[in-house]
Amino acid sequence: ADTRTMPRRTVQTHCPYCALQCAMNLTVTERPGEPDTFAVEGASFPTNKGRLCRKGSTAAELLTRRHDRLTSPLLRGEDGELHPASWEEALGRVATEIRRIQGERGADAVGVFGSGGLTNEKTYALGKFARVALGTAQIDYNGRFCMSSASKASTLAFGLDRGLPFPLTDLDSACTVLLLGSNVADTMPPFVQHLEGARATGGLIVVDPRRSNTAELTAEGGGLHIAPAPGGDLVLLLSVAQVVLEEGLADADYLQQRVSGLDSFRRSVTQWWPERAQSLTGVGADQIRLIARRLGHAARAARNGGDPVYILTGRGVEQHKDGTDTARAAISLALLLGLPGTRAGGYGTLTGQGNGQGGREMGQKTDQLPGIRSITDPSDRAHMARIWGVEPEALPGPGRPAAQLLHTMGHDDGVRALLVHGSNVAISAPDAARVVENLRALELLVVADFFLSETAAEADVVLPVLQWAEEDGTMTSLEGRVLRRRKLVEPPSSAPGSEGPGTGAPDSGPRSELWIWHELARRLGCSSTFPVEPAEVFAEIRQATEGAAADYSGLDWQLLDDGHAAYWPVPSALLGGESSLTGEPIIGTSRMFLERFAHADGRARLIAITPGRTPAPAPGELTLTTGRHMEHYQSGTQTRRVTALLEAHPEATIAVHPATALEHGLEEGADAVIANAQGEMTARVVWDAGIRTDTIFAPFHYAGQGTANLLTRALTDPQSGMPEFKNTPVTIRPAGVA
Ligand code: SF4
Repeated sequence: ADTRTMPRRTVQTHCPYCALQCAMNLTVTERPGEPDTFAVEGASFPTNKGRLCRKGSTAAELLTRRHDRLTSPLLRGEDGELHPASWEEALGRVATEIRRIQGERGADAVGVFGSGGLTNEKTYALGKFARVALGTAQIDYNGRFCMSSASKASTLAFGLDRGLPFPLTDLDSACTVLLLGSNVADTMPPFVQHLEGARATGGLIVVDPRRSNTAELTAEGGGLHIAPAPGGDLVLLLSVAQVVLEEGLADADYLQQRVSGLDSFRRSVTQWWPERAQSLTGVGADQIRLIARRLGHAARAARNGGDPVYILTGRGVEQHKDGTDTARAAISLALLLGLPGTRAGGYGTLTGQGNGQGGREMGQKTDQLPGIRSITDPSDRAHMARIWGVEPEALPGPGRPAAQLLHTMGHDDGVRALLVHGSNVAISAPDAARVVENLRALELLVVADFFLSETAAEADVVLPVLQWAEEDGTMTSLEGRVLRRRKLVEPPSSAPGSEGPGTGAPDSGPRSELWIWHELARRLGCSSTFPVEPAEVFAEIRQATEGAAADYSGLDWQLLDDGHAAYWPVPSALLGGESSLTGEPIIGTSRMFLERFAHADGRARLIAITPGRTPAPAPGELTLTTGRHMEHYQSGTQTRRVTALLEAHPEATIAVHPATALEHGLEEGADAVIANAQGEMTARVVWDAGIRTDTIFAPFHYAGQGTANLLTRALTDPQSGMPEFKNTPVTIRPAGVA
């Protein structure tokens, strides 16, 4: 048949995966009597400039999968298996069990686990559902494992956290970019376009223990690749700061006018002269001085009208038990150079999850209410209580951060029931075997997802939900820009004859989480309203965030539909000018802190940093660091179901330096076992001459024996709750050798 004559519809929307939120045109062709077909192409947009990575360009396959799409609720029967059920049965069981468990053990016996992949409307409604309908303090989300350290560090330093407090396109004109712990060439390839300026002039400095594809970008033009030992980043940054101060490269006027705490910070870094730092970081003193001088001279030129200088961090330096201090050290360096809140450059963190930014400001974080309001501040609590129609005293306080929530659940002192939305903690949480044990010890596990993830497979109740192009919503990208995600198609039905688990049950078919929380709240006897239309929820978000740090009150659905570039805070709909680069009309605040930082006195904070001791690996041990493959996203629940992505990377691999491989008898392509007290992982060895000899690398996207988080520990950063993902002592041996 000639598909050109068949009905087609196209929407401009955004990618279902990472925080770059590339714009795309998504087209469906309706073919009579046959399944619809979809096409994706990159759309013109400042952040992706028309490009998509392999993940984005193949994303439409998620909409066509039928055989393993969840199309009706599933209930675990007495035979131990999951069986199709109606929504009435499933929600009835959930509500009854919640009432029973809370009646026996109190409101906090039920916990909620959310996601940085949910839309703003869902993250907002989830926080409201937990605190108002369930009355529980025990809500947190997978962003705790993602950007919590940088978020905490930015809040301490600037008084407020927005991943990039400037438009991403500002990077295009940079002469120098220090990129710490982020492999953007693999994780968000279209981002690399924004590094071209710095790369071409030799100003790209990449810090990574591996010669990643991003580090490889430094090969041209005289850039630098610095490969510290995992865990060495903090001392490295403090040592660079020491050189900046020692050699008079700091911006004295800026520090005097806009920053507090210089003296105590200076005292704390005095000890980290490069010759002392080199043994702890694995980076030579001459290289440490070179970084400091390059940054210092470039920043001085930028202050005098030259091209700007940026310092950016990613998960590589943030996912540590001292991740907050490390991100603070990067921010401190930027402050010494006089960059944040100026046109001479700045600091930013590259948020990873699709709605990693919005997800952390809408109230699913255990210590925050919507708009980044504090859950312990009386006026913030009173504001939200008014919006939600409850007494302030009825709102719970802060609960346990994610790792603690997961590692105590199922035990006497932990939650006895957990509702999981958009997360696959059986793969993504540290010490994953213990997490699965605890999931099995719960009295009630409810998982809402659109595929049967490894976590959903453990559930007592599985709730099938809508995905990506099946509903409307808003997302907030890594630069704080609020975007419209648009619906194109209806979800698959569970009508008899369609494929998939749960086929044929009456009153079934995937539903939005907004509808699920509305229905559950009603069944739990909650009198507050839970709108089911995203636009209605967004209207409530505007009220909830009015006057807050992350203020969305000046925005509305129509302005977003009209394509305005809206960056929060948006206290009013007044246009903030237009982008000099893109010509788009701008609403809100594209560049933050230009006049003052968000602390009450308007000044940024330098704070003394004292690194703790990180024990060196024992003889025979290596350091495991985890990360991503280009083709997969997060726990792989989606990307492991896309044919081209799975074929490109069907399984976990372990990157090992050839010298290390020879020392441990590891042949390229053969399986190896990595082990420690937490557990074991088995994966195929890939020789990689670009990785340090004391370090091995494994991706964290895979299930079964290839789950890297079987080895990571639940050691957490006391400031942010971030687990230690990047510095795990392990042994390695060929598979089959005891
Ligand atoms: Fe863009 Fe990220 Fe989607 Fe790739 S995964 S297309 S980089 S938003």
